[in-house]
This record gives sequence, C-alpha cells and structure tokens, in this order.
Amino acid sequence: MDFWRVPLDSDEIKVTRGIVYIIEDRCKGCGYCIEYCPQKVLEFSTEFNVKGYHPPVVVSENCLDCHYCELLCPEFAIFSVAADT
Ligand code: SF4
Ligand code: SF4
Repeated sequence: MDFWRVPLDSDEIKVTRGIVYIIEDRCKGCGYCIEYCPQKVLEFSTEFNVKGYHPPVVVSENCLDCHYCELLCPEFAIFSVAADT
C-alpha cells in the first residue's frame, strides 16, 4: 500500500500476515478474489480443477489476512488464517 506520507506511528503498527487456503475444486473461476485482493496476492492458475475452471494460486507472500477474498467468494472456496497462530 502506498501512503501519500508515512504515518508518524508507522514503526509502532504491527502489520498482520495471513496464509491463504484455496479449495480448488469448489472454485468456479469468477476471479473476484484475484481482482479485488488489495495486495495482489492471487493469480489464475494454469491448471484446471474438476469443474474445468482455473482456480486462483498464491503468487505473493503479502497477504494481510484481511479476509476480503473470503467474503467475496460465492463458492466459499478461499479463506485466510493469521500466519502467527
Ligand atoms: S486475505 Fe486479503 S490480502 Fe490475503 S489474499 Fe485474501 S484479499 Fe488478499
Ligand atoms: S472468488 Fe472463489 S470462485 Fe471466484 S475465482 Fe476466487 S476462489 Fe474461485
């Protein structure tokens, strides 16, 4: 995330990290999770799932555990958990 200025308390803020889990065979390839992830953590896989869709794959370690992909997914096919638990 780009700030127009660095917040004065930026050293004190602990950035959360998440691990993303994808249940590939539930995915219908809509791409919402890929398009709207604020950290651009996901891309379409080149592989097909059992339904014939390309599920997302994790391409970055910058997941913030914000759960936004989880909220958007119409198939309950993706979720994140905190990396430090
Ligand atoms: S939890 Fe947030 S940052 Fe992590 S992959 Fe989902 S939308 Fe992106
Ligand atoms: S939002 Fe869900 S169904 Fe859509 S591409 Fe992502 S994991 Fe697949």
